Amino acid sequence: MNLRAEILTACKSSGRPPDSVKLLAVSKAQNMNAIKAAYSEGQLEFGESYLQEAKDKITQLPNANWHYIGAIQSKKTKEIANKFSWVHSIDSEKVARRLSEQRENAKEDLKILIQVNISRDKRKRGVMPEEISKLARKINSLPRLCMAGLMAIPSLSETDLQSELSFRELKQIGDQLRSNYGFEECRHLSMGMSADFVSAIREGATWIRIGSKIFGMRIKEKA
Ligand SMILES: *Cc1c(COP(=O)(O)O)cnc(C)c1O
Repeated sequence: MNLRAEILTACKSSGRPPDSVKLLAVSKAQNMNAIKAAYSEGQLEFGESYLQEAKDKITQLPNANWHYIGAIQSKKTKEIANKFSWVHSIDSEKVARRLSEQRENAKEDLKILIQVNISRDKRKRGVMPEEISKLARKINSLPRLCMAGLMAIPSLSETDLQSELSFRELKQIGDQLRSNYGFEECRHLSMGMSADFVSAIREGATWIRIGSKIFGMRIKEKA
């Protein structure tokens, strides 16, 4: 069964409309010809984790929508602010503030997802669940940014049940942000990768980030 069919089946069995889940093709460390082939078959949303590598791809496919999903160094925020339409990996006010200052006025607001350290793993990036509402309110107040939702990567060591519970918790945090603060746009949940997207869909994912299941093994994995 191909990926699109698997996504459809997961939507159906979860009682979710198929257009409520979007596929982000994670193209980091993948071959440009394969990325272009996916694009010509109608895949328009691509995720990248490393700015240097992404820049060349963005130049070659300027009409695709590019999502930044990796760690962000402060000195690179200007390019990230303007070459991408979504950033899934915000975990500090400092970086949010720089993106807000550096996003060009003519562009539509940069969609921001806060990366949540949902497994509360000290070695992992992301904001602890209890710190999210403070950062979300800050982002919501900054010009040129749209507080669009939350992202999480459960720890690899977690069991299927643990990651399912993590996805469920992420959804609850998002629901609370909307009901407590009225953040209308804050309805996206970026969760689920090649190995666990079915349970992420069941738990409410709106973006699933899939790399190897679309493109195969990555050519080179950077540190
Ligand atoms: C690489 C990466 C993915 C894709 O992982 P696969 O297991 O290849 O689907 C998804 N999300 C993030 C943040 C990544 O860095």
